[in-house]
Amino acid sequence: MTTVVSGILYIVATPIGNLADISARARDTLGAVSRIAAEDTRHTAQLLRALGLEKPLLSLHEHNERERTAALIGELLNGDSLALVSDAGTPLVADPGFALVRAAQEAGIRVVPIPGACAAIAALSVAGLATDRFCFEGFLPAKSVARRARLDGLKGEQRTLVFYEAPHRIAETLADLLAVFGNRRVAVARELTKLHETVYHGDLAALAAQAEVDPDLRRGEIVVVVDGAAEASDDGAAELERLLRALLADLPVSRAVDIAVEISGARRNVAYRTALRLDTARSGGDAPDGA
Ligand code: SAM
Repeated sequence: MTTVVSGILYIVATPIGNLADISARARDTLGAVSRIAAEDTRHTAQLLRALGLEKPLLSLHEHNERERTAALIGELLNGDSLALVSDAGTPLVADPGFALVRAAQEAGIRVVPIPGACAAIAALSVAGLATDRFCFEGFLPAKSVARRARLDGLKGEQRTLVFYEAPHRIAETLADLLAVFGNRRVAVARELTKLHETVYHGDLAALAAQAEVDPDLRRGEIVVVVDGAAEASDDGAAELERLLRALLADLPVSRAVDIAVEISGARRNVAYRTALRLDTARSGGDAPDGA
């Protein structure tokens, strides 16, 4: 009896505009697999033509991913190797493919990345904002009420934030970012790697105002990169201390800390250390170690 060795699922990044950004490995992989699952087969057929390749294509998009996944897993288990591509950039990054990758892993199929372009990373690399810690938030909700609610949940996020946005919503989104976050540094990167590539740098107030009057800023494909929230300021520490001083006049340390944490949102260990210091100073003793 022959044992069939299952095929490999390759997750292949494609260019986000400039065809020259296809990697040699991506080209070789697309040429070698039995079939390519693509978000939009017509779009990928164009890419393959430009690369001089011909390959059977199968559509895999958000509306058919579940049903197509079962068939593709069957092919992989039969020994065929497949590639997954999206219309642009890295599959699964604001694109289909998650269900397929998860199912392949669960079926014991090897999943191999063929890395390449990704608009979020390209924008981050030229934004001039902190890159040591960042978070990718994909697309914000399309309606302003839901968008502001999402931003409200993110306003304390200290990592640099990366969003994708549609051109017809960029002006509203910059205005909502300003309204919810207050003024912060921002970069708006549009049409990266293409003819009209432009990266606007400034603060939210300036770019929200520019988006109202400059139609170019509202054209093409867009990534928004925003500074994270400033670290808790000394104002927060001073406020916590004032609060604890008042509470400690009448309450034991643990109760004062409970109430201060509730009111200020400070971290419990920070409030506790501050309370111990104030309490010790008040009773004229030495601060305990580490306080
Ligand atoms: N998987 C892709 C990636 O790796 O970047 C993203 C796919 S998502 C459906 C498409 C969004 O990515 C666009 O609406 C835009 O926000 C961003 N995007 C894609 N190409 C871009 C480009 N050349 N310049 C700026 N943003 C781009």
